[in-house]
Amino acid sequence: MTSSLKSQRRILIKLSGEALGGATQFGIEPEILSAMARNIIDIKNRNVQVALVIGGGNIFRGAALQKAGMDRTVGDHMGMLATVINGLAMRDELIRQGSECVLMSAQGIDSITTQYQAQAGREILERGAVLICAGGTGSPFFTTDTAAVLRAVELHCDEVLKGTKVDGVYSADPFKDPNATLYKALTYKEVLQKELEVMDLTAFALARDHGMNIRVFNMTKEGALLNAAAGGDEGTLIS
Ligand code: UDP
Repeated sequence: MTSSLKSQRRILIKLSGEALGGATQFGIEPEILSAMARNIIDIKNRNVQVALVIGGGNIFRGAALQKAGMDRTVGDHMGMLATVINGLAMRDELIRQGSECVLMSAQGIDSITTQYQAQAGREILERGAVLICAGGTGSPFFTTDTAAVLRAVELHCDEVLKGTKVDGVYSADPFKDPNATLYKALTYKEVLQKELEVMDLTAFALARDHGMNIRVFNMTKEGALLNAAAGGDEGTLIS
């Protein structure tokens, strides 16, 4: 198998840690974990290859730990380990629901995960297993949004799906401005010119430089993830 061989649509879903925490945004809510795994299996059953980058904000964030007095680098290491904890929970749930799943981590934690490796990751996706990429980029001072774009580029994904609490990218914050309008499609340049919030700038610049499409959609809307994953006209597409 060559590194560029890809027989199906291949997507990367960025799942924030907060989403796993449910109403409290802390820890892992079993029902949410289970529903998320069901959605992922549904996507796979529609012949779409699925990679997942999981955040860790439901457990630790380096910036918050720094505010409490901790060294930022150590805080970020704790944040990255939090993403591994979430990855372990998601792998367990996917396997319990009957899906093959491999958890790779940017940090080699041999006894519990596999060291992330792009070519091995592509082969895992090609054989139809879900690939969870945990541990962020492996470096402090980055976010899992950057990890999501980075892994999507490395794994030759067609699109990054970024779930939010609203229907996509708006002209203003829809929670604060009743006149905010939803964009169906934007270019990278328009996002920067209009100063729209999509992802942090490092993640966004990486997507722009490598032409990685980003689709922002409503994670809480029934069927939206499935539609976005299948290539439907969901949320906002940035390309
Ligand atoms: N993190 C990091 N480098 C990375 C990705 C994540 O240091 O490449 C740390 C950082 O402290 C971050 C935490 O891990 O706050 C959890 O990730 P993130 O905040 O992106 O999670 P999410 O908001 O998606 O739950």
